[in-house]
Amino acid sequence: MASKKGKTRRRKKVKVAINGYGTIGKRVADAVNLQKDMSVVGVTKTKPDFEAKMAVKKGYKLYAAIEERAELFDKAGIKIEGTIDDLIEKADVVIDCSPSKVGAENKEKYVKAGVKAIFQGGEKESVAEVSFNALSCYDKAIGKDYVRVVSCNTTGLTRVLYLIKENFGIKKVRATMIRRVVDPKEDKKGLVNGIMPNPIALPSHHGPDVKTVLDVDITTVAFKVPTTLMHVHSINVVPEEVPSRDDVIEVLKSEPRILLLSEKDGFTSTAKIVEWAREVRMRYDLYENCVWEESISIVDGEIYLTQAIHQEAIVVPENVDAIRAMFELKSRDESMKITNESLGIGSL
Ligand code: NAD
Repeated sequence: MASKKGKTRRRKKVKVAINGYGTIGKRVADAVNLQKDMSVVGVTKTKPDFEAKMAVKKGYKLYAAIEERAELFDKAGIKIEGTIDDLIEKADVVIDCSPSKVGAENKEKYVKAGVKAIFQGGEKESVAEVSFNALSCYDKAIGKDYVRVVSCNTTGLTRVLYLIKENFGIKKVRATMIRRVVDPKEDKKGLVNGIMPNPIALPSHHGPDVKTVLDVDITTVAFKVPTTLMHVHSINVVPEEVPSRDDVIEVLKSEPRILLLSEKDGFTSTAKIVEWAREVRMRYDLYENCVWEESISIVDGEIYLTQAIHQEAIVVPENVDAIRAMFELKSRDESMKITNESLGIGSL
């Protein structure tokens, strides 16, 4: 930004608070920490467990997410800087990464303090002014105070559908979501032996959720299966203009947030994708859609493809881009480029 004297004035870093240092919160904190135009002013935990200790070890300032629990941290010998209210005072934006539906309860605090907030996909659309996906609707979030980053499944669907729609048009989409039942750390719930239509009655919520970030005719069905690694989507698109298979491959290859993986390289299942990711990324975090190249097909004028989505990681870059949009720091393409470079997206 140029000052009146023509000198370049350095913009202050956006101060980011993470409320809820769990699966998504810890990843978003680390991603924000890598950016030059924003910094993590603190993270919250509800209890003094190993994740709280890890946050402190990494150098994050720790706060109690629930005021009444602050003394538990003292008793456990873990230093906290205060409570969520103290943290909110220091922040320009709170990224709420608390469990589904809790974000909506937390919103009252953010509104009262006049601080911007980003919510996650477990919240209803109505929690925020707009829902967000960087590729499909970055500009909608420009200057906004409350933004919801859509869920992992919705993010994965939206990226590929946006690219297909932009390039070939879309008449309609039908997609089947095969969902990991819980995240790997979960030890209180799960599905040990069964395949659960979820929901049994059509449609699943994913189609309507995509429509909050992309104008498209879509119906989805969903199943939960006993795995923790990744979701798998089987997608069928009726395009306006029928492309060749090579056209689709070229379009998907051009987007760094999409990875084309091949059976020829041994990627025969999500197990193999994760085995590879363990070598190339911290926590095996895959921020990209993993599309099986061989699955991309044109049959009777319709596009088919199968992709795997790492649920714990895919929304991380979107949270970073949402901050830049809300603070009007960069255009969509500039922000995505910076975020991509910082996370190694496009380099695998
Ligand atoms: P999580 O359970 O791993 O983490 C949530 C964290 O919030 C925990 O550390 C918990 O102790 C803390 N917390 C509990 N009550 C709180 C409160 N009142 N205030 C602040 N923090 C509180 O959950 P997660 O998987 O990280 O999910 C967070 C959000 O992200 C949800 O909306 C979820 O739907 C969404 N999301 C999750 C995934 C995924 O696959 N895990 C993917 C995309 C989006």
